[in-house]
Amino acid sequence: MPELRVQVVTPDGIKYDHRATMIVVGTIEGEMGIMPNHINVIAPLAVHEMKVYRADQVKTINWVAINGGILEVKNNHITIIADSAERKRDIDIERAKRAKARAERELEEAQAQDSRDQVRRAQVALQRAINRINVGNK
Ligand code: ATP
Repeated sequence: MPELRVQVVTPDGIKYDHRATMIVVGTIEGEMGIMPNHINVIAPLAVHEMKVYRADQVKTINWVAINGGILEVKNNHITIIADSAERKRDIDIERAKRAKARAERELEEAQAQDSRDQVRRAQVALQRAINRINVGNK
């Protein structure tokens, strides 16, 4: 049975590198499950969790917060190039809660000032914080 190799690369380096029987990721068009022998594809990713069913540790599931990026599936090799990504075990939930509160404040201020760019930035920061909290609490 063929397997997937799953690598997550960020500006900080390789954040994840394991073999899997299946992954589920969030593309900007919705969740996508990928199993071995999937067609080759490139897709933009949303700020969303990734669920990895490990091939080498049966029944082990890894959760990774992917904070936007690009997915490439090529010959059972999955590469995710992300702005940032954290494994569940590396997430500092309290930090993410503080980031969420900050982003909510910034969003309110940006809306009051009617600043579209600031609204967008605050919304993305809020999504990242919520994603980290969700993954951290898995
Ligand atoms: P903060 O405001 O808490 O710094 P941020 O969303 O601005 O959050 P980023 O700029 O996205 O942070 O990330 C900076 C670095 O910190 C990245 O390496 C990212 O993986 C890491 N990081 C951010 N938040 C957390 C967290 N809650 N737990 C663990 N690592 C985090």
